[in-house]
Amino acid sequence: MSTQDVETNRHRVVVIGSGFGGLFGTKHLKRADVDVTLISKTSTHLFQPLLYQVATGILSVGEIAPATRLVLRKQKNAKVLLGEVIDIDLESKTVTSRLLNQNTVTEFDSLIVATGAQQSYFGNDRFATYAPGMKTIDDALELRARILGAFEGAELATTQEARDRLLTFIVIGAGPTGVELAGQIAELSDRTLDGTFHNIDPRDARVILLEGAGAVLGPMGPKLGGKAQRRLEKMGVEIQLNAMVTDIDAQGVTVKDADGTVRRIESSCKVWSAGVQGSPLGKMLAERSDGTETDRAGRVVVEPDLTIKGHPNVFVVGDLMSVPNVPGQAQGAIQGATYAAKQIKAGLKGQAPQDRKPFAYFNKGSMATVSRFSAVCQVGKLEFGGFIAWLAWLALHLYYLVGYRSRIVTVIQWFVTFLGRSRGQMAATEQWIFARLAVEAVQADQEEADELAAALGAPPADNGRTAAEKAAAADRRAG
Ligand SMILES: Cc1cc2nc3c(=O)[nH]c(=O)nc-3n(C[C@H](O)[C@H](O)[C@H](O)COP(=O)(O)OP(=O)(O)OC[C@H]3O[C@@H](n4cnc5c(N)ncnc54)[C@H](O)[C@@H]3O)c2cc1C
Repeated sequence: MSTQDVETNRHRVVVIGSGFGGLFGTKHLKRADVDVTLISKTSTHLFQPLLYQVATGILSVGEIAPATRLVLRKQKNAKVLLGEVIDIDLESKTVTSRLLNQNTVTEFDSLIVATGAQQSYFGNDRFATYAPGMKTIDDALELRARILGAFEGAELATTQEARDRLLTFIVIGAGPTGVELAGQIAELSDRTLDGTFHNIDPRDARVILLEGAGAVLGPMGPKLGGKAQRRLEKMGVEIQLNAMVTDIDAQGVTVKDADGTVRRIESSCKVWSAGVQGSPLGKMLAERSDGTETDRAGRVVVEPDLTIKGHPNVFVVGDLMSVPNVPGQAQGAIQGATYAAKQIKAGLKGQAPQDRKPFAYFNKGSMATVSRFSAVCQVGKLEFGGFIAWLAWLALHLYYLVGYRSRIVTVIQWFVTFLGRSRGQMAATEQWIFARLAVEAVQADQEEADELAAALGAPPADNGRTAAEKAAAADRRAG
């Protein structure tokens, strides 16, 4: 265990997470008389909205995930710690993070928690093995390898049945991510891979978009949802609405329709984009506060100043906060984090927490791409789709990408992909498909080794897990 030294006697701000909330919160404190420690379990600032382009071979990881350390190099009052936060002690005002076998304790005066959300399988976590989500770099690379691997498998298949299964791609959830992915898999098979195989025609691939509710892009309303649906259907994507996925295995999915019919679709490559839940730190914080609750998605129901009850120095922002009418989008995270940083600065000038103005969200609109040259866009009451919306989408995403180099390379990759037929990032390895399973197997082995050592009366090796985590691991194995 190591403790982070206090280098100055300035106000200490700890920021957890290097996503939109964590990065913008830290940057906003650049000129403040504080020491900021940003702790994140990932070493990069990930631009999640373009993950699907990594998964489908348009962009490389580097363009959408610059190293946080490099991004913050010039911010002298900020330092970056890599590690997963496993404990927050609100009484002693410390955060414990872990990297490999080492625990590190960092003290804070103010805390901004921006650990975002993770994929939710609505209680069916085993689905993750067969249908990865789209939240991390690992997810995107795994998915790219699964998509391209399915075409390779189909080329070698010896039966029509196997070929059909391998050439059927299922995207579960017709929100923006599902729509974008389905559109890109269709373009990949129709344009990029066309003419590159001998035994199969990639254009025969079926792309099926399953949605449990009755509409595509439900929250964007019927006009834009309808536009996106028609465009996808024109591209050959099969859209099945009111179709609840009840089971997933290696070979396909089981679907229950609105009329109660249960059917099966054979498919080797499935993607889950159906739901999210708040990071587990949200529940921990809520339980340790003076009565703050979490909502059904595990997000923290924060006070009007984005803090938790009884702790006006602890802010929860971004996808982890639950605030009415604030969507789980980049703007919510950026505005929430900027607000939190402002309150910390005002506190240094003597403002009491009870004098804070409540957080007010300014809705700048939302958009989703459907295919090249086509997107849907909503700004206030204005709703439009097509080429203009697609240009707006390109410009906005370029604006928010971090770093000039990333922007330039991204523009080049977009030219190559959208004007030509090629894609620059079509590499995929076997390791990308299987690494997640291997990591899980190693972790499970470690847990078993600990248990065996404990049963034999020997103290287990300190692998950095807390007693509570070890008990939770034992419960998982038992259950
Ligand atoms: C595929 C996809 C597409 C999207 N498209 C759009 C879009 O087009 N437009 C839009 O506005 N929004 C979009 N979003 C949503 C947007 O990306 C999120 O709203 C935004 O990233 C939330 O920011 P955040 O800082 O709260 O969380 P995140 O960006 O998720 O960052 C969370 C950070 O916390 C770190 N972390 C998590 N747990 C721990 C821990 N225990 N210890 C230490 N660090 C931890 C993570 O490593 C990460 O750095 C999309 C999201 C996804 C997944």
